[in-house]
Amino acid sequence: MRNMLYIDGKWIAPAEGGYQEVTNPATEEPIQEIAYATEQDVDVAVKAARRAFDRDGWPRLSGTQRAQYLRAIAQGIRHRQEEIARLEVLDNGKPLPEALWDIGDAAGCFDFYADLAEQRDSEGPEVIALADERFTCKAVKEPIGVAGAIIPWNYPLLMAAWKVAPALAAGCTVVLKPAEVTSLTAIQLAAIIDEAGVPPGVFNLVTGAGSVAGQAIIDHKGVDKLAFTGSGPVGSRIMAAAARDIKRVSLELGGKSPFVVFDDADLEQAVEWIMFGIFWNQGQVCSATSRVLVQEGLYPRLLARLVEETRKIRIGNGLDEGVLLGPLVSKRQHEQVLGAIEAAKAAGATVACGGQRPAGFDKGYYLEPTVLTDVPLDSAAWVEEIFGPVVCVRPFASEPEAIELANDSRFGLAAAVMSGDEARAERVAAAFQAGIVWINCSQPTFTEAPWGGYKESGIGRELGRWGLDNYLETKQITRYTSKQPWGWYIK
Ligand code: NAD
Repeated sequence: MRNMLYIDGKWIAPAEGGYQEVTNPATEEPIQEIAYATEQDVDVAVKAARRAFDRDGWPRLSGTQRAQYLRAIAQGIRHRQEEIARLEVLDNGKPLPEALWDIGDAAGCFDFYADLAEQRDSEGPEVIALADERFTCKAVKEPIGVAGAIIPWNYPLLMAAWKVAPALAAGCTVVLKPAEVTSLTAIQLAAIIDEAGVPPGVFNLVTGAGSVAGQAIIDHKGVDKLAFTGSGPVGSRIMAAAARDIKRVSLELGGKSPFVVFDDADLEQAVEWIMFGIFWNQGQVCSATSRVLVQEGLYPRLLARLVEETRKIRIGNGLDEGVLLGPLVSKRQHEQVLGAIEAAKAAGATVACGGQRPAGFDKGYYLEPTVLTDVPLDSAAWVEEIFGPVVCVRPFASEPEAIELANDSRFGLAAAVMSGDEARAERVAAAFQAGIVWINCSQPTFTEAPWGGYKESGIGRELGRWGLDNYLETKQITRYTSKQPWGWYIK
């Protein structure tokens, strides 16, 4: 089966880019063919989004009117939740229960921004008190314009929802480009948006190569805002492209997030959250807590329990019952993660468990969940994002040492702390240089709360009301209300 591009309310074949096969990471078998958009296709999509924004009236609908479309999209996703989740498993490899969770969250994201769009109608503009009483002033928020959204492969539909829902709620129009290896559920989203009756040009989907379709979006003068989730190097490139035309930009990039466990933490809970922090989604999570720091008194017992439980994780095809760890997303990712483990070993790390392709899995991009110890602080395994089911565990002596080790990173996306002492947990949470901090847990993510990183982990925040602000400009409207003439030139 061949997929088309969705541009200006129509399904169209790519101009010249052709099609490329996508494969199931569990079996390495082909699934479908994806259209590869050219620069010309992107130009048509951006022009359609421009027209829908500048002339056709999407930004001038009330929030309540736009909310109706968003709710119809949420319903459309829920209606097909099972089917879309299965497609996500085929495309990305994640276990079905995780995919069902993601798809439910994606629907919830559209409902959440529907509520916010409605709320904005009832709130009205903010009145600004001026010292000069001859004037009145108000601040209003308006949609930025055409948003170019570029997303990665780890949460294909959910990442689309995180960008498309707030953008449409704000009144922006959108050109979305999913990752080349996982476009199938974004294509489903386009079909749902079409069925919801969203006017032509408001949402456009261009699948294809980052270097062609993605680059054409970021370079296009008709795009006002770039919203990106992905790797640091591409993030830098996007920021540079945005700088040329002063496009608005928000970036959600990588991380190397620490998890600090004190002696007084509950051992079983700590092991559970460490595993959830690094093995969920095969560790292909930007906020994965991949550096675990454990206080000396607990370290030997915790490491032993972690290894014991990690060995029990059921690996397999994400569609099979009881599987908790599927294959990595692609051959490339599999090779990269295996390469990172080999490099860690060469640097002196010890493999406490895992580290290779599991026995009996000759096909598919499977990898054992891996625990590394003795990882040198200056090695790539400790410093760089691995983006796989690989955790580095290390002991520490004191609270100041733990904080120093945790913050010694160029990233600052997330951090977690576990302690039975509430005051200490709060103190450490305050000391973390990270945009997302978890106490006594790791990874739970809520649509209502801000999401984004410090340092090289990105710029801006998604989700919650911050996610809506990403797609809004602020305008002041000032009125001269005095009956007295201004009297500067004309006395
Ligand atoms: P990537 O940066 O290679 O690709 C992300 C997207 O950018 C894809 O759609 C790709 O086609 C596109 N792209 C590539 N080159 C481009 C270009 N020149 N111009 C425009 N678009 C281009 O990253 P990836 O391999 O898909 O994802 C893994 C990375 O993403 C990891 O580093 C991870 O940390 C990060 N990530 C971050 C978050 C977050 O919320 N902060 C979430 C998921 C993934």
